[in-house]
Amino acid sequence: MNLDKLAGNWDLVVIGGGITGAGIFREAVRIGLKTLLVEKNDFAWGTSSRSSKLIHGGLRYLKDGRLLLTYDSVRQRQRLMKEAAGMIEPINFMVPLYKGASPGRWTLKAGLSIYDVMAGAKYHSHYNARQFTRMIPRINQNGLTGGFRFMDAQVDDARLVQRLINESAAAGGTALNYTAAVEIIRNRSGRVNGVRLEDSETRDTRTITASAVINATGTWAEQLHPSPQKDLHIRPLRGSHLIFPGWLLPINQAITLTHPADKRPLFIIPWEGALLLGTTDLDHGNDISTEAKITKEEARYMMEALTAYFPSSGIRLEDAISSLAGVRPVLSKGNRPPSQESREFIVWINKGLVTVTGGKLTTFRTLAKDALTAAAPYLPGKTKVKIDEPVFVPTPQLPKQLNGLDPLTWRRLYGRYGKIAEEMVIGANIKDLVPITGTHTLWAELPLLARTEQVRHLSDLMLRRVRIGLLTQDGGREFLDRIQALCEKSLPWDQARWEVEKQEYIEHWESFHSVPG
Ligand SMILES: Cc1cc2nc3c(=O)[nH]c(=O)nc-3n(C[C@H](O)[C@H](O)[C@H](O)COP(=O)(O)OP(=O)(O)OC[C@H]3O[C@@H](n4cnc5c(N)ncnc54)[C@H](O)[C@@H]3O)c2cc1C
Repeated sequence: MNLDKLAGNWDLVVIGGGITGAGIFREAVRIGLKTLLVEKNDFAWGTSSRSSKLIHGGLRYLKDGRLLLTYDSVRQRQRLMKEAAGMIEPINFMVPLYKGASPGRWTLKAGLSIYDVMAGAKYHSHYNARQFTRMIPRINQNGLTGGFRFMDAQVDDARLVQRLINESAAAGGTALNYTAAVEIIRNRSGRVNGVRLEDSETRDTRTITASAVINATGTWAEQLHPSPQKDLHIRPLRGSHLIFPGWLLPINQAITLTHPADKRPLFIIPWEGALLLGTTDLDHGNDISTEAKITKEEARYMMEALTAYFPSSGIRLEDAISSLAGVRPVLSKGNRPPSQESREFIVWINKGLVTVTGGKLTTFRTLAKDALTAAAPYLPGKTKVKIDEPVFVPTPQLPKQLNGLDPLTWRRLYGRYGKIAEEMVIGANIKDLVPITGTHTLWAELPLLARTEQVRHLSDLMLRRVRIGLLTQDGGREFLDRIQALCEKSLPWDQARWEVEKQEYIEHWESFHSVPG
């Protein structure tokens, strides 16, 4: 733990380095609060690097009658596509319709029309079966009557969190990974006045003082603040994905599948050159102390849906390159099937401690606003919380000296990394300005991220700063020596440490990201 960074009184301590904590950190720093963010593991280690990577209104919420949640999500999506271009990009979804299936054409049409009205633009269209199969040639045509196309948006979730943290740190905030909040300190009247922190690896501790604390620890929130509502608790619901190489099913739009057994919606989504198949939604159980991983049953369940829709593709579970599992922090009264649980967030206030959990990636700014508004009475000065500034520094034109780099790659780099994108390209060897096979990640991305983004372990770099550990065969094992050569100057590790890091990364990948069976 860097103790020097912790001196003095903090206006605000944000606990949890997922999207909720990072969004609050961004807005708190922007309004001038002296803010510290602490994350027990790596930034975005929790659910926020394990989502379906959609910035979406959530058609399902509309179906459940949650109009306000859908409206807020659609409006946020529209803003984010503009303000975070290159990071958050539109993606089309195709919904095949089959004879006798529910929802039918007109119900879906009504839902998509409302979705478009909320966005203030018409994005959806209907296609007959012949047109639909031209767009998705390998779709099961048995009983196919046509289908719809609509628009949502896609993100790299871990990068969204990291960029929020980076820009907040550049604006004066302090963020530490591998630092856990182990106790909330209160004065005699119960008012919060500090936090005891512990370095997750060395176990060094340090107590700091703070005017207010926001608990943004997602699934783990009740460990720091038990629910004040007797019948409302966090219900950890696991969702898993399988990742396949993109060439197996060449599609450039996502496809909505309805599982043949329980009629739940699943998606197959092109992502970073690969295909993401997901997701499940089931009780994870109460042991949230270890990292989530996919089970054989979940993999089999998802393969059933894929095979039903693409019987001629011949895609098998063995073709998958990796898996990803996360746990949703869903607030529950415990009496509904998982997929029918509300996805709305809560804010609990307790004498200077504000707990916020249950939100989605998409609505992170709404959560930030509500959490900071709840914390305002405890903060110094007259804290006025607004969320109307653009979330990121806008992407500038392709600089002249970057000639040779195509505008789309520049847009992607700037979207993910902000200002350092320029340094990344100018400082790179020309042979490193090419993508790592099977991904959109350039070799040149690695050394700068290794140097500037608090990478403590190789898994931080492979699984979250870039996602090549999920996008390449065997977690990218074949690339590890080249990655070492590229990043040796950025990371202060000797050869023995590199060997340990490589070994531990591979073992970790086998345990949590390999394909079951
Ligand atoms: C399978 C799946 C798919 C999803 N798909 C989407 C989607 O497509 N779009 C969407 O909008 N939403 C989606 N979601 C929901 C969304 O991902 C989550 O709601 C969101 O990421 C939760 O973010 P968070 O910051 O609250 O929690 P987390 O990301 O889990 O962050 C909490 C952090 O707190 C840290 N922490 C815990 N205890 C402590 C402590 N004592 N001290 C310090 N740090 C601590 C944890 O290590 C963790 O990193 C999906 C969720 C799942 C599971």
